[in-house]
Amino acid sequence: MASTEPEDLEPPLKRMKTELQRDSDYWFKSGNVVMVASNTVAYRVHSELLGRKSKVFKDLLDHDAPQPKDQELMDGCPVVHVSDAADHFSTFLMLIYDGWRYRDEGGYIEWGVIKVMLLLGDKYDCPEFRTQAIKHLQLTFPADISDWDSRQPLIQVSPEHAISMANLTRSSDTSGMHAIALYLCCSLPIATLMAGVAGRAGDAESLCLEDLDRCLQGREDLPKVWLDLHAKLFASPLPFHAKSGCVSGCEEVIEVMQGFCKESARRDLGPNIAYDIINRARWRPVMMDAEKRGMCSRCMSFYEGRLLRMRQQFRDGLEKRFQYVRASSAYSDIIELV
Ligand SMILES: [Zn+2]
Repeated sequence: MASTEPEDLEPPLKRMKTELQRDSDYWFKSGNVVMVASNTVAYRVHSELLGRKSKVFKDLLDHDAPQPKDQELMDGCPVVHVSDAADHFSTFLMLIYDGWRYRDEGGYIEWGVIKVMLLLGDKYDCPEFRTQAIKHLQLTFPADISDWDSRQPLIQVSPEHAISMANLTRSSDTSGMHAIALYLCCSLPIATLMAGVAGRAGDAESLCLEDLDRCLQGREDLPKVWLDLHAKLFASPLPFHAKSGCVSGCEEVIEVMQGFCKESARRDLGPNIAYDIINRARWRPVMMDAEKRGMCSRCMSFYEGRLLRMRQQFRDGLEKRFQYVRASSAYSDIIELV
C-alpha cells in the first residue's frame, strides 16, 4: 500500500472518528481495500479494478509498496479516505463495476452521472470516463443543426444543470461544450445565474465571475439576435418562383409575414424569456402562420432552408460569441442573410 496520499485525498489528521456506514452495493467480501468517502460511507472494493480505470488509484493502491506501520485497517483491509461526497463516489464505483447501469430505463443518462465522469474522471485520471462523457455531450448537443433537430438526447440536462456543465467543461478537451453550456445558462433567470444552484449531493454550484459576465452579456445580446433573425427570415431576396409569380400568390403572403414575424419577435421580448434560437420548436409559430396564410410548399421549403442555415450559422458562432469581453459586443458579428 502506498505510504503517501495525493493532495486531494483527505489527510488523516483532519478525520473525525465517526461510525462508518458500510455501503450495501459496493461492499465485497473479496475486496482488498476499504475506500471511505467523506468519512461517512465505506466501500470494500478491489484495488486492481480501481487501478485498471484510474491512474491515480493504480499508483496509490500499489500492492508491492510496503505498508506503513500505522496503516488504518478495517476488516483486515487497508483504509483509504477520499474527500468526495459519498453520492459521487458511489456513482464512480457504479461506473467501474456496473458500467452498463449508468443509463436509466428510458435510455437517458442523468446529469449527475456525467458530472461524476467529468469531475472524478479528471481528479482520478480516468481518461475513458472523460472521453465517454464528452462523446455523450456531443451527441446531445451536435454541431450540425439537422442532427440537432433529429437528435434523441442522451443526457437529461435541465436548465439548472447548465451551470454545472459550464463549470465542468472549461478545459480545452471538451470540444466546444463550454459555449453550449453558457448558451443554456442564458435561459436561466438572473437570480439563479447569480446565486447558483444546489447539486444532488448537496454540492452547490455557481458560475465563476468570468462565465457569469459572459452569460450576462449573452442575455443582453440574444434578444437582439432574436429580433434580427426574425427581421431577416422573410426579408428579400424572395424565392425565385415567388418572384416570377407563384400560383398561390405567395408574394403577398411573404410581405405580410415580414411584418408579422418582426412583430411576433417584439411581443416575445421580456426579462425572463429563453431566447433558444437553436431550438426549431421556438420558430414553429411563425412557420405555422406562414402556412396558414396559404404559402405554397415550394416557398415554405425555401424559408425552412433559410431558417436552418440561420440557426446553423448561429450554432457555428457560439464559441466565438461566448469568448468575447464586455467591451466588444458579439452582436457585431450577427448572422448574415442567406
Ligand atoms: Zn409560393
